[in-house]
Amino acid sequence: MFKKVLIAGGGVLGSQIALQNAVHGKEVTVYDISDDAVAAAKKRVASFKDLLVADIKEISDEQAQADIAKITYTSDLASALKGIDLVIEAVPESLAIKKDFWNKASEAADEQTVFATNSSSLLPSKIAEFVDRPTKFIALHFANIVWSHNTAEIMAQPKTDADLPAQMETFAQEIGMVPILVKKEQPGYVLNTILMPFLSAGMYLWYHGIADPDKIDKTWMIATGSPYGPFGILDVVGLRTVGNILKTSQDAESQGIAEKLQKEFVDQGKLGTETGEGFYKY
Ligand code: NAD
Repeated sequence: MFKKVLIAGGGVLGSQIALQNAVHGKEVTVYDISDDAVAAAKKRVASFKDLLVADIKEISDEQAQADIAKITYTSDLASALKGIDLVIEAVPESLAIKKDFWNKASEAADEQTVFATNSSSLLPSKIAEFVDRPTKFIALHFANIVWSHNTAEIMAQPKTDADLPAQMETFAQEIGMVPILVKKEQPGYVLNTILMPFLSAGMYLWYHGIADPDKIDKTWMIATGSPYGPFGILDVVGLRTVGNILKTSQDAESQGIAEKLQKEFVDQGKLGTETGEGFYKY
């Protein structure tokens, strides 16, 4: 049903979503804000291709190269939208930028084009206010490292057509994702609603000196059979990002944890897996 897909914003997530669509046979166009941004998006897609091929044995490098060669890139939104079945928006997580993008897309898109947002934290009903077709608007949320962390959380808003969530489930399966239908709007979907308190609880134990990070992780991993504990996950998320999220919180404890992270890790260049050291060495 959704064959021609426009990815809006070719950043960290948009470029991965474009790649995932392309290697699963969709006709993909990537739209970004300027020629420079388009060039950066193209580079990003190529770099993620190597990671995808290393992770997904069924997709050969030759095949992936051929698929990504078919992706078209543009900074001209109006012409990019012609004939598109589905727009997946992955522009920055700012209400003002989302508004600007969806206003423009609403003006130029064909009547039947379906709109989806990859927003992590903004409720779809909030973004639906910016589109001319709220019945065709839904959230389709990918996780970072799309091809291997392949959940696609699907969250409708009150005005979404009743048929659209099921259509989106089919689409998600077609592109190699595991669809997760969220039945009601919820900040953080399913994943982050569970993950955030879990990570906070781990950091609480560490901050108050109750147990060391490796012991906290070990407890969780042995007792539940999980491959990671909170600190293994925090290293993957990146400790600078974690600190930034904590700083936006008003409570004194979050501020205290953010300061401790800053002093003991970020200031020393220990940002997690990306720098080879965080709570663990890699
Ligand atoms: P990013 O900053 O890496 O990429 C944003 C892209 O949008 C850039 O290529 C930028 O040039 C482009 N852009 C900026 N303004 C634009 C505009 N007006 N129109 C079109 N493109 C524009 O951001 P990201 O991390 O890829 O996040 C994008 C969206 O995906 C956000 O809504 C975020 O919440 C969501 N998301 C991110 C992650 C993650 O781990 N990074 C995970 C799931 C969902």
